[in-house]
Amino acid sequence: MLNISTLVLGLVQTNCYFMSDPKTKSAVVIDPAWDGKYILKTAEQQGFHINQIWLTHAHFDHLGGVAELCNMQTPPPKIALHEDDMDLWKSQGIAPLFGMQIDPGPLPDIKLDHGQKLYLGENEFEVFHTPGHTPGHVVYYCRAEAIVFCGDTIFQGSIGRTDLPGGNYDKLIESIKQFIITLPDETRLLSGHGPETTVGEEKLYNPFLI
Ligand SMILES: [Zn+2]
Ligand SMILES: [Zn+2]
Repeated sequence: MLNISTLVLGLVQTNCYFMSDPKTKSAVVIDPAWDGKYILKTAEQQGFHINQIWLTHAHFDHLGGVAELCNMQTPPPKIALHEDDMDLWKSQGIAPLFGMQIDPGPLPDIKLDHGQKLYLGENEFEVFHTPGHTPGHVVYYCRAEAIVFCGDTIFQGSIGRTDLPGGNYDKLIESIKQFIITLPDETRLLSGHGPETTVGEEKLYNPFLI
């Protein structure tokens, strides 16, 4: 069993997903976008300990809350990121390009590979490396629950931008076609921004894919 709450946080309205497992009382935060204190309060109110932070990619609007979240929890959660996004991570997730300074928090300590499995309680998630929006972008797929946390790869009726450093349009389209759109039609897509959608809906209506 898996509970998912969506918290919309930060300057560009990023979806941060708080997932908790009632059996083990453990929780995972996908993309703690901003306001770590608020995310932690949400966890504590529900009686959960945040064990891990899973980043879809290293843009500042997806990791701005990591430092606060880690500073306020003992032991701090482990942080998962793909190696190919480490350059972005080191450059504060390109916050300076947008005139900001952020603290990206402790160094990520789970280095993600394509095909790797991650767990929250008994819930299994597969990691797919989906470059294009950034070089080390990943999505997290829970087959049993038919859900993909897809970060900034695909949005309802749109796709992630590829004009930022490390972006590549052809790679993004290939990643989406190879690893997301091939999943069963009823699979829910929980994106980094905007409302949730499904594989079936995007196959029919997403102008970038038809
Ligand atoms: Zn991004
Ligand atoms: Zn984003």
